[in-house]
Amino acid sequence: MTEQMTVQSGKTDVKNMTRDELKVWMKELGQPAFRGEQIFGWVHGTATGFDHMTNLPQSLRELLKEKGRITCHRIERVQTSRSDGTKKYLFRLEDGNAIESVFMRYKFGNSICVSTQAGCRMGCRFCASTIGGLCRNLTAAEILEEILAVQRDTGERISHVVLMGTGEPFDNYDNVSRFFRLVHDPKGLNLSLRNITVSTCGILPVMKRFGDDFPQVNLAVSLHASNGQLRSRLMPINRTYPMEELIDACREHIEKTGRRITFEYTLVKGVNDREENLTELTALLAGMNCHINLIPMNPVSERDLRGTDRRFAEEFCKKLEKKGIQATVRRELGSDIDAACGQLRLNSQK
Ligand code: SAH
Repeated sequence: MTEQMTVQSGKTDVKNMTRDELKVWMKELGQPAFRGEQIFGWVHGTATGFDHMTNLPQSLRELLKEKGRITCHRIERVQTSRSDGTKKYLFRLEDGNAIESVFMRYKFGNSICVSTQAGCRMGCRFCASTIGGLCRNLTAAEILEEILAVQRDTGERISHVVLMGTGEPFDNYDNVSRFFRLVHDPKGLNLSLRNITVSTCGILPVMKRFGDDFPQVNLAVSLHASNGQLRSRLMPINRTYPMEELIDACREHIEKTGRRITFEYTLVKGVNDREENLTELTALLAGMNCHINLIPMNPVSERDLRGTDRRFAEEFCKKLEKKGIQATVRRELGSDIDAACGQLRLNSQK
C-alpha cells in the first residue's frame, strides 16, 4: 500500500484501498472481513460519506468516520461543448489543487480522459499542461474519483478510460497501476483492461514494467517527430530516452503483448509535417504493428507553434497510408471549450 498517500491527516482513504486491503483493515479493527467487501462496493458506487453505507451498523459507521475518509472532488466548473456535447470538468482537490477531466460520448459508449498528475514536468513544447510545472502526483483514489464524480454528475456509466489528461502516467506509476487494479475489480467499476488506454511520452524503464504488469491495457506513445534531433527539440524527455531506444522498446512491447501500439503525432505547422518527415516516419515504422494518430496541434496561447491545417493533415494521412502505415486524423472533441489534447491546464482561471 502507498502508505503516505492512503493515510493523510491520520485518516485512511478508503477509496485508495483495494478490496483485499479493506478486508484486512476491517479485521484489524475487530470487524468481520465481509464489511470490507461492503465498504468497497459503496465507495465504488455513489457513496460519498460513511453515512450512505446503510447496511453497516451505526457503530461501525462512527468508527469509520473517526479512522477513515473518502476522497471526493468538488466540481468547480463544467463546460459543455456546443458542437459535440463533450464536457470538461474542473475539479478542486482536497488540498486546493485543481485538475481537469473530459467526458466524451461515442457510439461505443461513454469515455473519460483523466489526469494523472496536478501539472506536469515533462516540458513538451506544444502542450499547455506542462506550463506551470508539476505540483504533485494524484493518488489512485483521486484518479478513480475523476470517473466516479463524472458518473454521479451525469448519471451515466463510463465504459472507456484514457489516461491522456494532464500529467505523465509513467511518472506516477505506483498510483496509476493501483488505479488499474481498482477500476478492474469486478466488485468495483469492473472495467475491462482492454477499454483502458495509457499514453506516455516514453519513460522507458516504466514502459517495460507496464508491459509485464498490464499487457491488456492499450498503450499509446507520444512520438511527435520523425527523427531524434527534432524530437529532442519538441520533447525534452528524448534527451534521456532517445527515439531509437523508444522504437526498440515499442517493438519489444508489441512482441511481448501481441497488441498493436498507437503512436500519437501532433502535427506542428512547418516543423514536423514536411515531406521529409513522411519519408523518415515511413522508414522508422515499417513493418511494425502500429497505428498513427495524427492530431493537428491545438492552439496554446503561450506557445509560438501552430497546428497544421486539417486539410493538409488529411493529405499527410493519405500519404502515410499509401506507404503502408495505418493512420487516422483524430477527430477533435471539445476544442471550443479548450478540452482538446494538450489544452488542459493546471489552474484554469478563465
Ligand atoms: N504525458 C502523456 C499523456 C498526455 S496525453 C503523453 O505525453 O503521452 C495528451 C496527448 O496530446 C499527447 O500525445 C500529447 O503530446 C498531445 N498534445 C499535447 N499538446 C498538444 C496540442 N497542443 N495539440 C495536440 N496534441 C497535443
